[in-house]
Amino acid sequence: MKSQEVRSKFLSFFEEKKHGIVPSAPMVLKDDPTLMFVNAGMVPFKEYFLGNGKPKNNRLADSQKCLRVSGKHNDLEEVGYDTYHHTLFEMLGNWSFGDYFKKEAIAWAWELLTEVFGIDKDILYVTVFEGSDDSDNLKMDTEAYDIWKQYISEDRILKGNKKDNFWEMGDQGPCGPCSEIHVDIRSAEEKAKVSGKDLVNEDHPQVVEIWNLVFMQYNRKANGVLEALPNKHIDTGMGFERLCMVLQGVQSNYDTDVFTPLIREIETITSKTYGKNEEVDIAIRVISDHVRAVAFSIADGQLPSNTGAGYVIRRILRRAVRYGFTFLDKKEPFLYRLVDVLSTQMGKAFPEIKAQKQLIENVIKEEEQSFLRTLDQGLVLLNRIVDETKGDTVSGEKAFELYDTYGFPIDLSALILSEKGLKLDEKGFNEHLQKQKERSRAASEMSTDDWTILVEDAEEEFIGYDSLQANVKLTRYRKV
Ligand code: ATP
Ligand code: MG
Ligand code: MG
Ligand code: MG
Repeated sequence: MKSQEVRSKFLSFFEEKKHGIVPSAPMVLKDDPTLMFVNAGMVPFKEYFLGNGKPKNNRLADSQKCLRVSGKHNDLEEVGYDTYHHTLFEMLGNWSFGDYFKKEAIAWAWELLTEVFGIDKDILYVTVFEGSDDSDNLKMDTEAYDIWKQYISEDRILKGNKKDNFWEMGDQGPCGPCSEIHVDIRSAEEKAKVSGKDLVNEDHPQVVEIWNLVFMQYNRKANGVLEALPNKHIDTGMGFERLCMVLQGVQSNYDTDVFTPLIREIETITSKTYGKNEEVDIAIRVISDHVRAVAFSIADGQLPSNTGAGYVIRRILRRAVRYGFTFLDKKEPFLYRLVDVLSTQMGKAFPEIKAQKQLIENVIKEEEQSFLRTLDQGLVLLNRIVDETKGDTVSGEKAFELYDTYGFPIDLSALILSEKGLKLDEKGFNEHLQKQKERSRAASEMSTDDWTILVEDAEEEFIGYDSLQANVKLTRYRKV
């Protein structure tokens, strides 16, 4: 089943169940101080759950573009290294605002997966909230358990803790227990070795979560206490690319038709082949993923820039350029050439990508050109530094010089060094950075270099977003 059909079957199924079908909201958030990008399907409906507004229809369904590159949900470092976390992905969702609750949500999820999509129930596991003996003192979700057991044998219903099975928007607000649906698409031989039960929630590439059904029945108040909501809501989110993987009988999201046209084009442009060499494969996955994130952000009005959300986008783009440069030998711009494929493939479901194609191509090409110049110079110098390094740590002073004089990103230095089995003296680097800041303050002039701003944003200005800092840290310390 082609991805296009998967998406439309999901939507028409819920349309038949009297849901209004709405288009994806833009992924970029302009007015939310707590969030830069939509990172879950429920975000555009937050106000309805909080009771601050009423939707036209109290049942909705959609496919929402989500980006998980910052804040609480940051999957950036997984992307390319695993085969089922993306930066940008589509979350298929059905919503009940004070209308139906657990019984229907579970019944319909089951009907859709096993009858409409024909997924064998013997590859499915479901989870229910086991309760908590902390200050919330929550009971096990026996209501969900009893509903599930009408559909699936009890040895496939697993109990999960608060981390996996109690969903909260943030420190305050609507929340509740959830049930997740996981698939086990391993071969019979692999299944005989280890039970799928033991792999649910264990980061196994073929035992993955596909759908989360959240039963919103509480509100967490500012003082941390839970109160029962007068209206109970349903919030579900299913990973579209993961569902396509299951339905297309492949083992990786990248082997679905959501990604293969992009991957074929990357192969053509770079004369590399996907599936032969792990490093090349990672690079190809990173690029095919990141170009989607960047293109859709630009289409939604967020151009790469030096601060805030624009900076996050710039970093994603540069990460893609770097992988192309290092592992696919692409020394000239090429990401922008993928936009055409993306627009052909996604333009029907997301017309914004088609409408903005020319702009997206121009912006990406320009970004690539400018970053490639930096990379070229910086890499030569970094290699010289590596040759001169005795021991396993590159001094903070050298790294700082590279950063300060040549504008070479520090997180990139750390990444390249870690790939060569070397460490970077981060403490030394920060001391030099601090000294330089003091110097420039004294001279009452601030550097406007991107990468300087990154560190400043993360440490000073954007601390409230908790996102840039998390990004920087993760990137710097990633182990290969
Ligand atoms: P995981 O445990 O796999 O990281 P999650 O529990 O963080 O997923 P939810 O917040 O429950 O995910 O989101 C709902 C659904 O969205 C998941 O069941 C999954 O199918 C999908 N999903 C979540 N994160 C990603 C991602 N980074 N890329 C692709 N799909 C994702
Ligand atoms: Mg996750
Ligand atoms: Mg999960
Ligand atoms: Mg989940």
